[in-house]
Amino acid sequence: MAENPQSIRTLPGVGPKKAQLFAKLGIATLSDLLRFYPRDYEDRTRILPIASLEADVPACFIASVVTNPQTHRIPKPGSRQLELTKVVVADHTGRLNLTFFNASYTAQRLIRGETYCFYGTLVGDYLGYAMTNPLFEPIDSEGNVTRRIMPIYPLTAGLTNKQVAQAVQAAMLRCGVEETIPASVRKVYGLCDAASALREIHSPSSAQGLEEARKRLIFEEFYVFSAALAIVRAKRTVRTVPAFQTGGMAQFYDALPFTLTGAQQRAINELLSDFRSGKPMSRLVQGDVGCGKTMVAAAAAFCAVKNNKQAALMAPTEILARQHLDRLAPLLEPLGVRCVLLTGSLPAAQKKLVRQTIESGEAELIIGTHALLTEATVFADLGLVIADEQHRFGVAQRAALLAKGEQPHLLIMSATPIPRTLALILYGDLDVSVIDELPPGRQPVETFLVDERYRSRLNGFIRKQAEEGHQTFIVCPAIEEGETESFKAAEQWAQTLKSHVFPNLRVALLHGRMKGAEKEAVMEAFAAREYDILVATTVIEVGVDVPNATLMVVENADRFGLSQLHQLRGRIGRGGAKSYCILVSDNRSEETLARLKALCATSDGFRIAEEDLKLRGPGDFFGSRQHGLPVFHIGNLAQDLSVLKQAQQAAAEAVAAGDISPALRKAVDALLNNDDFVMN
Ligand code: ADP
Ligand code: MG
Repeated sequence: MAENPQSIRTLPGVGPKKAQLFAKLGIATLSDLLRFYPRDYEDRTRILPIASLEADVPACFIASVVTNPQTHRIPKPGSRQLELTKVVVADHTGRLNLTFFNASYTAQRLIRGETYCFYGTLVGDYLGYAMTNPLFEPIDSEGNVTRRIMPIYPLTAGLTNKQVAQAVQAAMLRCGVEETIPASVRKVYGLCDAASALREIHSPSSAQGLEEARKRLIFEEFYVFSAALAIVRAKRTVRTVPAFQTGGMAQFYDALPFTLTGAQQRAINELLSDFRSGKPMSRLVQGDVGCGKTMVAAAAAFCAVKNNKQAALMAPTEILARQHLDRLAPLLEPLGVRCVLLTGSLPAAQKKLVRQTIESGEAELIIGTHALLTEATVFADLGLVIADEQHRFGVAQRAALLAKGEQPHLLIMSATPIPRTLALILYGDLDVSVIDELPPGRQPVETFLVDERYRSRLNGFIRKQAEEGHQTFIVCPAIEEGETESFKAAEQWAQTLKSHVFPNLRVALLHGRMKGAEKEAVMEAFAAREYDILVATTVIEVGVDVPNATLMVVENADRFGLSQLHQLRGRIGRGGAKSYCILVSDNRSEETLARLKALCATSDGFRIAEEDLKLRGPGDFFGSRQHGLPVFHIGNLAQDLSVLKQAQQAAAEAVAAGDISPALRKAVDALLNNDDFVMN
């Protein structure tokens, strides 16, 4: 097969193995490399006289070699012999002993009487000060490893910083840079051009040059993002749709087993008024876990179906889709709404049958997962799209579902508490309903932070819950090495509990590696009280409802973000009985303790989000898909909010004027096709 001329495989020294390592970093093409920004820099521009070098602080110094390098070989039993090369250098302020370990070839290049620039770290011990394996180059050379600001790249095992830096430099020579920001905009906001920004970000000529490059690239990232947002919205706001009749809702309200909360009723009234308006609705319903968003969705679906339209409810997981069906079908079927479930794990023959009912219009409320998006799913007349737990969907996925109807209404449901200032900017013209009230009778979940010393008391507590007929979730964290290890950790823990700790209790295991049907079977069995304990990875984080579960134990709670813990905790406290959440952590760092204690102190999702932001810093908070916020590579939503506003303004003007350059269009398309791109 002919190699793509843009592939990194075309770079010298990048074979299939290296390419795989680069792929781990998300790099496939030359332009990916150009956009792979350093995570940090090492400032090697400081040049000091030898006498001013400080211990443990890396720095450059210029010195001449005063002795011939002397290499000694020290035999070591059972392993490669040690090579020690010593050389003395000096400037007008003093002398310094340099030691090179196993680098005689390098060290022997130092020539007595010549002057070099060195970069290294001075280390002091009882013999005085010395320096080990400094980098160096001739004083009249260009300064490749000394006297420069060096980029430090995010790495993966098997790739060195030097290799990445070299690949970037090689790509730089080969790959043209496209300018996405028009000159007029660059002038207004004082931004440098794309080519020099990329050159400076990878190989800064000065601190100021680096700052200018960063400014430009942050602006650019927000600019492309804002342009994408504006383009998608422009498509949705032009057309009108037939207004819905919203008169017959009493039938729905009467069928409910409970009275809606004021906040639920308000959200429903707001969306009904959108339905009557004759414009396609775009509404976000935001409300803490357990506030009852599903009933708001049900009301919307009921109304759409009464207007002879189909409604699709898309959930991020099979478990959740199945649960929605189990809850909504008994409510809506008696009202004449035909409900079906379409998920990937259905047997092919059944899937085909379900799809036929969707295409014929016989199915009216279609609940499903991503299977709804495939080409094979054709709707007779889709009038409403509901996306549950919106942070789990990319914009492309939502757009794909919207495209299956003629301007269907869009209802997005999210438990993600996003600080309000930010929500306004990111959601823009999306209408927001906030459900700020929990159904009556909910007791707040009592939350405690404990360490390993409490293990036996904790086990006793789990036993006590089981004796009282209640159930326990035990959540194991994701492990950095990946899904496989996470699942192993949960599996091992479940095994230990089963055979050693709770031999008399029934322990089940749920993890992301299981097939949809298996997961469902376990979840159903747990909900049916066939197990006392469910050990799970975070697959249970969204939505699942088991009102009889009254205890949640989170192992290694410090590995979770606060908002994620809050979501997890929302799985319990859903029945009448008092519920408890126990966070287990042996991490004693002050920051961690403060974070976890914040969760013990409040159950308000918005406050927790703000606390999360304050304590963990914007990097962690905004870097996570948990929050439904777009992930930016260089821009930072907390620090660069003013740049975001400027970029948004400039992009809105460009889109309104139809003034979108091919380069900008290309960048926008790439963004929209990226599954990680989340927006509303
Ligand atoms: P979420 O907003 O997290 O999606 P759900 O819609 O799953 O919350 O609702 C949580 C639980 O509260 C469900 O068991 C649901 O039946 C119940 N519920 C919803 N609304 C009310 C209400 N108005 N009164 C009592 N219980 C309610
Ligand atoms: Mg929900």
